[in-house]
This record gives sequence, C-alpha cells and structure tokens, in this order.
Amino acid sequence: MRTCKRHGGLRDDSDHGAESQNHGAEDLLFDALLFSLYDNGDGLRELRLCGAEGCGQVLDQMGGFIGVGGDTFYRPPTPDTRTQAHVGLDRRRRGASSGVLYSREVLSEKTTVDSTLVPTRLQADVTGPEPVMTALLRALRSEPVLRVGTARSRGLGTCAVEQFEEVDQAAAIPTAAPIADRVRQFNEHWAARCQSQGESPGNPLIALTLQTPALFTDAFLEPTLSPTGADLLQAAFESEEAHADALSPLTKVHQIARPRQVQSWNGLAGFPHSSGLGLAAGSVLVFEAPDLGDALFGALRHIEEAGIGLRRHFGFGRVRVCSPIHTHLHEHMPQPYA
Ligand SMILES: [Zn+2]
Repeated sequence: MRTCKRHGGLRDDSDHGAESQNHGAEDLLFDALLFSLYDNGDGLRELRLCGAEGCGQVLDQMGGFIGVGGDTFYRPPTPDTRTQAHVGLDRRRRGASSGVLYSREVLSEKTTVDSTLVPTRLQADVTGPEPVMTALLRALRSEPVLRVGTARSRGLGTCAVEQFEEVDQAAAIPTAAPIADRVRQFNEHWAARCQSQGESPGNPLIALTLQTPALFTDAFLEPTLSPTGADLLQAAFESEEAHADALSPLTKVHQIARPRQVQSWNGLAGFPHSSGLGLAAGSVLVFEAPDLGDALFGALRHIEEAGIGLRRHFGFGRVRVCSPIHTHLHEHMPQPYA
C-alpha cells in the first residue's frame, strides 16, 4: 500500500469530511504480481509519483491500520502513546531488582484531537468462542471499571466501560461479501489489470491478507517465513484434515511480507511463552489454485474463522481471503484500468 509522501491518507477521510486534503492511497498488489510473474514493471513504474493534480510527490509506504466496510475504507483514529520507565522486579525477593530499569511504550489516557486533549476512547467489534464471550459479557455487565492489557498490577490499563451492545453476528455491520464473490472479483480485477498490460492472467489466484501475525515452521521445526499451501493448516486438528487437504494443492506464486518477532506471556505458568519469528499483520500471500471447487471454498471459509499457521487459539494467523483492499483501494490509478 502506498500513499502520497506529503499529503498521505485515504482521499475521503471521514475525520476531515469534505475538507480532506489527502491525496489518496493505492494498493500495489496487482502491479507487484505483474512484476513478479511476468517481469513487467510498467505498473510499478507508473505508481512512483502521486497522481493528484499538481502534486508529483513520491508515493511512500503507508503504515497503520485500515478498516474495511463493504467497499469503503477508513482509518481508525490513532491514540497518543508515550514511553514510560519501570523498575525491574526480583521474583524471589518480591521487590525492586537492583540496577534493572526498562522502558515501554504505552497508550496514553488522553489523546490530542483538533489540538485539545480528550480521554482516549477505544472501540471494537468483538467476536469469539462462546465461553470467552460469556465471560466477557459478565465482566462488562458487572464491572463499570475494567483493567485491560499487561502490567495491570503496576496500575496500567484502568478503563471505564462507556457503552456496549450485544448484536447478532449476522446483523453486524459491515458484513463481508461471501468468499466466492471476493475470489471472483479479485480474479476479474486481476484479469483486467493483466489485459491492460498485454499479459494473460493464467490460473485463478487466491490472496490471503494477514490481520494478525502468523507463525509457521518448516520440516526441521525452524520458523519459516514462506509458507506453502500445505503449511496453512499445518497444526490441523483431526476434524480439519479435509480442509488441510483442500489447501495443500495451492501453489505459492508471490508474497509481500515482513518478519515479526512475537512474544507472549503464559499466565498459567507465570512465565513467557517461547518467542517466535513470524509474518507481520498486513503481509499478503498469493497462491495459484488449480481449480476452484466447493472443497477449496469450504477450506477458505474455515481459515477465515480459525486462522492459519501455529498458535491459532491465541489469535495468531487471522486472515482475510481476497480482501477488498486489493481490488477496490485504487485512488491513484484510474478505474477500470485504461
Ligand atoms: Zn500528493
């Protein structure tokens, strides 16, 4: 994803309404695919500079988060952060540890909005397994004040529950388009992009975009940053084996990924989990599918629910199949491809 270096951001940023000065964002997946599959760099070359009238600045990498509502996109507001120093604790003596100081980045309790400080608000749609949701609902109903995140015993993470509502998932807004439609749209856009560059699109493609980091290992149990189709459900339970089989014929054709070190805490043992090297959220894996059958669509639906890779029960490997970001977020390139 790229955006203007000078006036970066989505063109219709709801925060600024009609006065939005942003020059728009552009997803480069199809152009990167053209380059990697056909050695055709024309698309990437066309997208070096901002397309806004009279701008001509460089298009730069875009960081942060993007929300998807149907075919529209938004940037969630970013809370202010600060760095805070802490004294290390000695587990045996249960006191301060001599000479151990560390710092950590925390979300501030106040955030600057239009140059005034207001309380930081966090808002989310939360879904999860039944027992987790039952426990969460009980906490939200009974405790007007919650403590969330890590280092709660050090006073961090106190927050007030302002509002919550239980909604039926089917009625939640926005609902994602069915996977079959997304895959079809993705391949239609890809075919159009190929034709505009005089290339032929070949077998159908499936793009998997990570929403949380994902962890994979190779045959020697070493972390791998380039998973194959067979690795997607490499820790499959018996009930998932049919889905794992349906995904294994997928052939990796390209990936745009960043490595990410993940650390987590085992609350039960009171010790850290072993750290792992995985792929960062936002990474995209593109596979070629020999054919698009019901078994494959069933498996794709399953991985959108269950995730891919290892430690899925911790929330790693959340994935979106053929995300509308790739097909619809093109604010610099005229659509349909001329
Ligand atoms: Zn610009």
